[in-house]
Amino acid sequence: MSNTPFPSKRAPAFADVPDEKWTDWRWQLSHRLNSVEDFEQLFPLSESERKALSQQGLFRVDITPYFASLIDPDDPSDPIRKQVIPTAEEILPYTGMMEDSLAEDRHSPVPGLVHRYPDRVLMLITTQCACYCRYCTRSRIVGDPSQTFSSEDFEAQLDYLRRTPQVRDVLLSGGDPLTLSPRVLERILRALREIPHIEIVRIGSRVPVFMPQRITSELTDLLQQFHPLWLNIHVNHPNEITAELAEACDKLSRAGIPLGNQSVLLAGVNDDAFIQRRLVQDLVRIRVRPYYLYQCDLVEGAGHFRTPVAKGIGIIEALRGHTSGFAVPTYVVDAPGGGGKIPLGPNYLISMSDHKIVLRNYEGYITTYEEPLDYKPPDARLAAPFKKAISESGQDGVFGLLDGDEMSIKPEGFDQLHVRGGSQHRLRADSSKWSPLGIGSGEEEE
Ligand code: SF4
Repeated sequence: MSNTPFPSKRAPAFADVPDEKWTDWRWQLSHRLNSVEDFEQLFPLSESERKALSQQGLFRVDITPYFASLIDPDDPSDPIRKQVIPTAEEILPYTGMMEDSLAEDRHSPVPGLVHRYPDRVLMLITTQCACYCRYCTRSRIVGDPSQTFSSEDFEAQLDYLRRTPQVRDVLLSGGDPLTLSPRVLERILRALREIPHIEIVRIGSRVPVFMPQRITSELTDLLQQFHPLWLNIHVNHPNEITAELAEACDKLSRAGIPLGNQSVLLAGVNDDAFIQRRLVQDLVRIRVRPYYLYQCDLVEGAGHFRTPVAKGIGIIEALRGHTSGFAVPTYVVDAPGGGGKIPLGPNYLISMSDHKIVLRNYEGYITTYEEPLDYKPPDARLAAPFKKAISESGQDGVFGLLDGDEMSIKPEGFDQLHVRGGSQHRLRADSSKWSPLGIGSGEEEE
């Protein structure tokens, strides 16, 4: 830790805590701050913060002494403070607000398992976190002790996975999986590894950020038994990158666990191109690859954190080309209603003709790319062994239009609306006339 360029902080209120306690994650967890009195040991609270902290029924508040120490006590707008200390704005409703904005519950075949995409699932294995983020997408269940998952729920989740062979990737989340006891975590990882079609397991965790002391050698020894295992952390602002986080990430990387970062675009926290550039550059210094930058979801309590989508596109404009390509995250809107992640970014394609496209680069340099005029698609037999898994899912989307025999994707009720008795008409009696003839698809040659 001595060679790290990143700071290590401890608030004066914790100066007398012995090092062996400060560095013990159990001490951090059992000394979390959550009341007006707790926070006023560190800095004076605003009226808005006091009001929110005294409010019944608000999303849970808990902050480890370590993470609270990263807050600048003299700055009421500190970006870490805004992420974890509630304000009265959290109570305000806004247009579009939803309890379950990603419709996760609707995509749950069994409690806690979200099967949204064809080949991967989200497995919620706990509702507890080390600290609670004010904009949490899952605030409907997270932090609520009455919403825990039972052994029967785990069994039902595993049972679904055993009988669903298209699932090759399981993302463990919650809550935060790294708050679970090692015994429970090991049981879940072992059970997943025993399912032959599950190729990779991923963990989404903010524990390294909130409580890096938890990343012990015992934990990394446990995790590395279950490779290929990937882990995404969640850092939103460069001030969260400390000597302790750098050390935790170093331990995880040395255990062979590839690390990514998911951040959320938050008004007043990180909605600035220069903050984002520093963030992604510092992340790659601790060997964490920026993965996603999320548009803030339409979730209850998060209205004051929302930015226009244009802000996110502007941030990507400021990153792509201006810094290392692998440091640029994909900016996504997680579709309200459960449509999954939709990537957005600046447009670099200016125009095109039958043989040439016109592109612009990050500096505004405009160039052309001459298209090949003799390009031939690969022999279909080359791709045939790999094609099955994709086309079986029924979720081929626009790619299915390009690659398959379908001619269109229609909204629900489209056919009923547009077949206005025309099936009786003598010119339309033969419905096959509206089907593609397959000319040029290669089908007619077989
Ligand atoms: S760590 Fe993740 S799950 Fe927990 S409160 Fe924050 S955003 Fe929600």
